[in-house]
Amino acid sequence: MIKLTPLRSLPAIALAGSFLLLTGQTKKSWTDAEVMQIHNEAYLIDMHNDSPMFTVTGKSFSERGAGQHTDAVRMKEGGMGGQFFAAYIPSAYVATNSSAHQTLRAIDTIKEDIWKKNSAQFNWADSTAAILANKKASKMSALIGIEGGHAIEDDLRLLRSFYELGARYMTLTWSNTNNWCDSSGDINNPKVKHWGGLNELGKSIVLEMNRLGMMVDISHVSDAAFWAALETSKAPIIASHSSCRALSNAPRNMTDDMIQGLAKKDGVIAINFSCDFLSQKSRDASPMNRPEVMAERQQIMNGSSDHLDAMRLDREFMAKYRSQYKRATLQDVVAHIDHVVQLVGVDHVAIGSDFDGVGCTPEGLDDTSKFPNLTRALLEKGYTPQMVNKIYSGNILRVFAQVEKTAASMK
Ligand SMILES: [Zn+2]
Repeated sequence: MIKLTPLRSLPAIALAGSFLLLTGQTKKSWTDAEVMQIHNEAYLIDMHNDSPMFTVTGKSFSERGAGQHTDAVRMKEGGMGGQFFAAYIPSAYVATNSSAHQTLRAIDTIKEDIWKKNSAQFNWADSTAAILANKKASKMSALIGIEGGHAIEDDLRLLRSFYELGARYMTLTWSNTNNWCDSSGDINNPKVKHWGGLNELGKSIVLEMNRLGMMVDISHVSDAAFWAALETSKAPIIASHSSCRALSNAPRNMTDDMIQGLAKKDGVIAINFSCDFLSQKSRDASPMNRPEVMAERQQIMNGSSDHLDAMRLDREFMAKYRSQYKRATLQDVVAHIDHVVQLVGVDHVAIGSDFDGVGCTPEGLDDTSKFPNLTRALLEKGYTPQMVNKIYSGNILRVFAQVEKTAASMK
């Protein structure tokens, strides 16, 4: 059952759609051609993907199979519109005060190795206007989101520099609490100094993000930090890759209260595809819950020569245990989308797969080429083409446009 919410003024991307889109029609069966037409018109913008972790170490993005789940070929096959590529900064760089250095390297690989080497498929985008122009030109949009607030080394000047280079969202933390914001990843560790959410520096960073026009991303932060960021921000905020805690009790997922708070301020939660975030059964069965497995992981990581090497070893370690995962399914992804829709309406949910950043992907959504399966599943559940359009790009374009408007008003 779908709870329909009153239509809001739609962004141009929705209004530009076909007859099918405008009728908002529902029916029981859809041909492959109809599914693909609706899918392509919806211009799916995935809010989070970790491919830069692979390309920064020299892997090509142009050939099939370059990353675990993503490359330019499979993105095109999956009929994708835009992708926020994560400039992810491992927390280990904090100790050597080299997080900003690594951020610059991540931004460079997104521009040089992902965008420019695949410019037949991608155009650059750092605004809603650019995304809409790319859609019109039938090009995918390449965008940057920073993952881990430690990237800015506590310096607003670096935040502004990363904005200038094209970063349009930043997760306030990764799994590590930094000097101004608490993370869900270590909130129960008494050895880590916490701030009760966001301290004064953290609040000034959120406000500077508002002034610049950078989306405030609360994926990875603690619950208290979420509420503090929500209260502080003058613009709607996003969760670029989180799912619903009511369906899987992961600290990285959002409670119903949090989703309602986010929606009240017109924000968006983009659903993460990690099996253990989607399904409690997958979470309970995950080998990563077993102490002996985690001890082995730590031992392997301790033997690495540098942080990038550690990431590679970690990926290999996770691959070794892949056969032991109890996989979630495409229907679990639909269930999370539906949970948000039932709770707060269709205007506040989007897609944030975390492809290439997760060890286990759902059956039926194995990689970026499989996205049309999700469109079919949503249509078969009774979602209209217009609702699919909102979930895939309309909602995030609305929030991004409001963030741009807020910035213009603070200049
Ligand atoms: Zn993440």
